[in-house]
Amino acid sequence: MDHGQLWRVASQHREDLIAFAQRLIQVPSLSGHEAEVAALVQAEMERLGYDRVWIDEAGNVIGRVAGGDGPPLMFNGHMDHVDPGDPGLWLHPAYGGEIHDGELWGRAAVDMKGALAAMVYAGGLLVSLGLTLPGHLYVTAVVQEEVGGMGTRHLAQSLPVKHVVVGEASANHLRRGHRGRVELRAHFQGRSVHASMPDLGVNPHFSLARFVEGLKTLPMASHPEYGSSTVAPTRVDSEPQSANVTPAAIHLTLDWRNVPGEDLPRIVTKLETLLARCLESACHGQVEICTKTMVSYTGLSMEYLDSFASFTTPADHPWLDSVQAVLAEALDRPVEVGTWRFATDGGHFAEEGATVIGFGPGDDTIVHTVEERLPLDQLVESSVGYMVLALQPRLG
Ligand SMILES: [Zn+2]
Repeated sequence: MDHGQLWRVASQHREDLIAFAQRLIQVPSLSGHEAEVAALVQAEMERLGYDRVWIDEAGNVIGRVAGGDGPPLMFNGHMDHVDPGDPGLWLHPAYGGEIHDGELWGRAAVDMKGALAAMVYAGGLLVSLGLTLPGHLYVTAVVQEEVGGMGTRHLAQSLPVKHVVVGEASANHLRRGHRGRVELRAHFQGRSVHASMPDLGVNPHFSLARFVEGLKTLPMASHPEYGSSTVAPTRVDSEPQSANVTPAAIHLTLDWRNVPGEDLPRIVTKLETLLARCLESACHGQVEICTKTMVSYTGLSMEYLDSFASFTTPADHPWLDSVQAVLAEALDRPVEVGTWRFATDGGHFAEEGATVIGFGPGDDTIVHTVEERLPLDQLVESSVGYMVLALQPRLG
């Protein structure tokens, strides 16, 4: 493989790639509202000469670069992003896509329109070079990752592929797994009364307080690579909402990050055991895994458990080994293999039997913050990295 050739074509198209990433940032695309960005991605893939470009029923954009008889490869990036919050807190406008000191600023610059632009360009530049890939390359831009991964859940079933690269931020190093995430709700039921005579009712707040305190000492599963699973209480909702009435019910939302091997029924049992210990007399309760019903901008509706599976690609997997070596050579620096602290769409692919690795530009500690910005050199480097990944035989 002539890496110099890949660097030359990437630097020739540096300004086009940056301008495309800017345009993506300038079009807001909160989860469920990705239509306009999807149209931009589709048009750019067509312009760059992909041999097939289509939008599936969930609203995902899929571009194919035809290759040889080998196993197909999928690049996966999401089009949606989290809310930028208070515009006054941003040093540069969240939807400005402005460049300052060699960095591209804005919501989704790192998570993950930068990576998406680099993936789209990598496919297009390979077409322009006329290089033959070992198998087809599918560059996919999916919907609703930030709210449970609806787009990827659909894609993993409709277009099953054995080798997947997820473009979440890794500062252009490699990632091979992460913990899972599951959202649960603990329900506490009492009996509501006028707050002037609390002795006549059953106030579930006291059972809730014991339960929240108990979470601190709950025995957690651990894993040699990921450390401990964690649980964090995040939201409390009560009903009725009046300030002068004791609640009939309280619902506590929990964010649980599970390690590989820690299955969902086991988590529920653990929490229900704690709950039973914390309920005061005449108070009832139960724990459940939250479900979500999401509707895409195309009108497709899907219901699923509110969870992201963990995944782990073995450290000695032949594909991972080979791409680590060739990336280090092409990028002319060491490339480390690590794991992500957060969950990604990778777990949905792994659940369908795919081997998943991560590679994406940017610093993952500033995603979802008002500091979100991507060094342009890392953006361009990632486009070379994606070309290298597409050209490498898909082993294992
Ligand atoms: Zn992301």
